[in-house]
Amino acid sequence: MHSIKRPTDIFPELHRLEQSLGRSILTKIEHPLLTHHAVELWLKRDDLLHPIISGNKWRKLKYILADALSLDSNTLISMGGAYSNHLHALAYTGKILGLKTIGIIRGEHPEPLTPTLLEMKHWGMELRFVSRSDYRQLRGYKHWNSLPGIKPNQYWLPEGGASGLALKGIAELVAEIDMPYDVICVACGTGTTMAGLINAVNPQKSVLGFAALKNAGFLQADVQSLLADNFHNGVIIHDYHFGGFAECNDTLASFMKTFTKENFIPLEPVYTGKMLYGIFDLLTKGYFKPGQRIIAVHTGGLQGNRGYPDV
Ligand SMILES: *Cc1c(COP(=O)(O)O)cnc(C)c1O
Repeated sequence: MHSIKRPTDIFPELHRLEQSLGRSILTKIEHPLLTHHAVELWLKRDDLLHPIISGNKWRKLKYILADALSLDSNTLISMGGAYSNHLHALAYTGKILGLKTIGIIRGEHPEPLTPTLLEMKHWGMELRFVSRSDYRQLRGYKHWNSLPGIKPNQYWLPEGGASGLALKGIAELVAEIDMPYDVICVACGTGTTMAGLINAVNPQKSVLGFAALKNAGFLQADVQSLLADNFHNGVIIHDYHFGGFAECNDTLASFMKTFTKENFIPLEPVYTGKMLYGIFDLLTKGYFKPGQRIIAVHTGGLQGNRGYPDV
């Protein structure tokens, strides 16, 4: 008998890690505005998967890790900012799986290190700080062994874990949704998760991506570059970045505070807070049709709240 093996069957350490994850349930959001517009909103709680390898970071990493293990790599290298959820998750995962990790960080070594960077270092990640222009250049290396100077046994993950393998993990998120829906929403950094949703959902459903960055015009092409076919059912919304990546103002902070108080669901202002603010704003503008059911992905990232003592 020959059966197709899943990556977690082949690598027991990956299997153990997956077994330790929490369950990503669907939570129904109640709000008078939703009732008024006859729209249902459910949150896919990927924030519950793991406190550190949270949300879409686990989804994106799973098949990349399996690939690295199958190539006998002993070192994972990637890039991100000083608060990067991606590098934070990668550093912790490396520690759990017994792999070395190297994080290439945008900008100067902050003094003191951010709590995120401190933990990454504590978990054994080697931190390398590079100028913004060098960082931009690194974005061009997309393939696992394309990084200049990469050594045998080292495995390169492009920014945000943007790769075809990441899409496979996002497809598992989609497969877990066991109810009909019309629209699926997600926050976008690199747009990899959005590409994964577009790739996996029935093309009748629309995928709304909420850009977390200002001037994120690159997203359209970046999402497209991860997909085999031209996409028609995905829309990137640029109106809810609140002034730029990781920017937060009183309007957003008070929206999040109320949302958390009413639903007992923690948010963070970089991604999910902005997405949900956007969903409610679009709702009041009549963007959604009566009778529609929206699924919004809670992509986790709650560790990033340490950068916002007032939120
Ligand atoms: C990284 C991250 C995103 C963005 O994911 P992309 O695939 O890069 O678009 C969204 N939400 C949270 C919480 C994240 O940490």
